[in-house]
Amino acid sequence: MSLYTKLSDMRTPFISANWKMNKGIEETRAFFSEFVSLVKDAKSREIVVAPPFTSLHTAAGIAKDTNISIAAQNMHTNDSGAFTGEISPLMIKDAGCSHVILGHSERRQYFNETDHLINEKIKSARKHNIKVIFCIGETLQEREDGNTFNILGRQITEGLKDISPEGIVVAYEPVWAIGTGRTATPEQAQEAHASIRQKLREIFGDAAENTRILYGGSVTAENINRLMECGDIDGALVGGASLKPDSFAKIVNYDIK
Ligand code: PEP
Repeated sequence: MSLYTKLSDMRTPFISANWKMNKGIEETRAFFSEFVSLVKDAKSREIVVAPPFTSLHTAAGIAKDTNISIAAQNMHTNDSGAFTGEISPLMIKDAGCSHVILGHSERRQYFNETDHLINEKIKSARKHNIKVIFCIGETLQEREDGNTFNILGRQITEGLKDISPEGIVVAYEPVWAIGTGRTATPEQAQEAHASIRQKLREIFGDAAENTRILYGGSVTAENINRLMECGDIDGALVGGASLKPDSFAKIVNYDIK
């Protein structure tokens, strides 16, 4: 099987924006007023945008009746209660989210989120029928120490413990490639994605062939085509280049002539 042979046509390409802590309500409106029409013909792919919490309701209102879904960037495990400053799965649903990003490396690194906590959050999201973009990835040190596949294996095994494959999209985001302008080469990304799919086979069996695995880390309109040619890359999670409607639309519309 060549690097550039798609293993399955059943995996609809999935392209998600992650705005991180950017864009207030007016900026969100301005983004969507351009973006909606730029991607309206991209029927052959799934499009998700993840604004910050305060813009979710606005984004979901505009995206209703379009081909764009809205994700939160995080959530608490519990439905409600004394958790000052937290946002529950019921609240993100109420705001109009169908998806949530969990396990992002910035949550792991700056907010001490462990594999166990991420697993609890995934269970809670799925209990409420919220689809999950589950992020994993190694640091530069871990890669240089030759530990990439061990780290990815551990994050998958612990993060997806007692989870079924429905509603799960995995995002491989090497920490050294996030926001650095340093993209993994298609070969490096494909090698990691193939190992992730193999691990998913061990956990999910045949369903692993239908599980989308996204690449994230300095994806741009310039490198998306080469990445999407790789057999096990089924989409992208995009930070910096998702903040401008035209640059994100070019990524969504990759390969559409
Ligand atoms: C991200 O944070 O999910 C990400 C991939 O960021 P960037 O595209 O800016 O590297």
